[in-house]
Amino acid sequence: MIIDCHGHYTTAPKELEAFRKKQIDGLSEASASRAKPRLDITDDQIRESLEGAQLKLQRERGSDVTIFSPRAAGMGHHIGDGTTSLHWTQACNDLIHRCVRLYPKNFVGVCQLPQTPGVPPTNCIDELERCVKELGFVGCNLNPDPSGGYWKDPPLTDKWWYPFYEKMVELDVPAMIHVSMSCNPNFHTTGGHYINGDTTAFMQLITADLFKDFPTLRLIIPHGGGAVPYHWGRYRGIAQDLKKPPLTEHLLRNVFFDTCVYHQPGIDLLLKVIPVDNILFASEMVGAVRGVDPATGHYYDDTKRYVDAASLGDADRRKVFEGNARRVYTRMKLST
Ligand SMILES: [Zn+2]
Repeated sequence: MIIDCHGHYTTAPKELEAFRKKQIDGLSEASASRAKPRLDITDDQIRESLEGAQLKLQRERGSDVTIFSPRAAGMGHHIGDGTTSLHWTQACNDLIHRCVRLYPKNFVGVCQLPQTPGVPPTNCIDELERCVKELGFVGCNLNPDPSGGYWKDPPLTDKWWYPFYEKMVELDVPAMIHVSMSCNPNFHTTGGHYINGDTTAFMQLITADLFKDFPTLRLIIPHGGGAVPYHWGRYRGIAQDLKKPPLTEHLLRNVFFDTCVYHQPGIDLLLKVIPVDNILFASEMVGAVRGVDPATGHYYDDTKRYVDAASLGDADRRKVFEGNARRVYTRMKLST
């Protein structure tokens, strides 16, 4: 079985966008008088939005199931206040739940969180619990920078985040550390801000001892770990200078990378540098890069090709494609 641990609902019907627009247009009203807009989307619209996109690509590329979450750039945690974020998050998560119910063999749900800059993530606990216990979701996307490129909240190792981690541990669900859109014009969302976010999160983890406090907490750094594998010597050396244990002990019992790296040399480097037990197959399709690489004639984000072509033994390849995802997303129950 091939599990793609990183897919977003980037093709949602336009009614979802209209819902969001209504929310944003209503922000001038007082918070208490703002109602949650209605969202009317039919099952047929959902089917149509998926059949020609994610489902078609699963079939064509040969993956079986996608761990599926709301569009990451669309989370927009910086917009409005906690109520705005909660209403939007619930609507997006409910829609993912409907996708999973319509295609239970193809999708497993992961939730967005109702984060807001300056608001402690304690306010995300109820929604995480609802998604896991009522909707059967297996994880969440945690935004390390709800301000969208200005990094106004404390680092991921700060006690600010601890009550949320406690709930993750209790529910036994991992988080993918995933930023949303950039509102800082210096950072292109998917080319700059995403990769910065991945690299920054990993560096934050190096400087502290988060996993001493949470030995079973599991975090996935997407997009191949940002710049981390390429600069592995730098990060090992910084950890050493800080008198931290080797990174394999310090972080790699708890931190995992995905394979959203869109060329063969990048995947080869990732697989060479990072232990195979810490790498989960992912493509992030349909998402950040949608074109065809003229050098290969294949889609950049058809990452299965790169993993297939990498020099990996069969047992290790199975770990990357399936075993590691099952180990990290322990609540995921898939029939083989
Ligand atoms: Zn993503």
